[in-house]
Parts: sequence; C-alpha cells; structure tokens
Amino acid sequence: MELKVNKDKCIGCGMCVSTLEEVFDFDDDGQAKVIQNPIKEENEETASELAGDNGCPTGAIEEV
Ligand code: SF4
Repeated sequence: MELKVNKDKCIGCGMCVSTLEEVFDFDDDGQAKVIQNPIKEENEETASELAGDNGCPTGAIEEV
C-alpha cells in the first residue's frame, strides 16, 4: 500500500501525524506528508483507517 497527502485538502490538523508518526510528518508548510512508502505491514491497518471515512477529517489521505 502506498499513500499520499492531497495538499489541496489537508488543513494541517495533525491527526495523522499524532496517530502514526512513523508514516506521517509535517512539511515546512504545515501540511502533512507521507514519509514511509510503501507503508510497512505493521502500519497498514492504522494507515487504512486514517485514509478512510472515519480518519482524516478532510479526506486528504489517498491511496496511490
Ligand atoms: Fe492533513 Fe488529514 Fe493529516 Fe489532518 S489528518 S494533517 S487534514 S492529512
């Protein structure tokens, strides 16, 4: 699984970074970025939740 953050949607709330800091970090612009691609197996379940309807509040985390 590979993910990306859609910069047009990310509002920099930090939910993804605080939930899964191995996979997400902030860019210099205060938006999130994916720092682990492909996503390691042990992080896939949580990453999928963040990319799903109950995850990122703006739906900015997208599967590549
Ligand atoms: Fe951006 Fe979504 Fe992460 Fe919040 S949870 S920082 S809106 S990608």
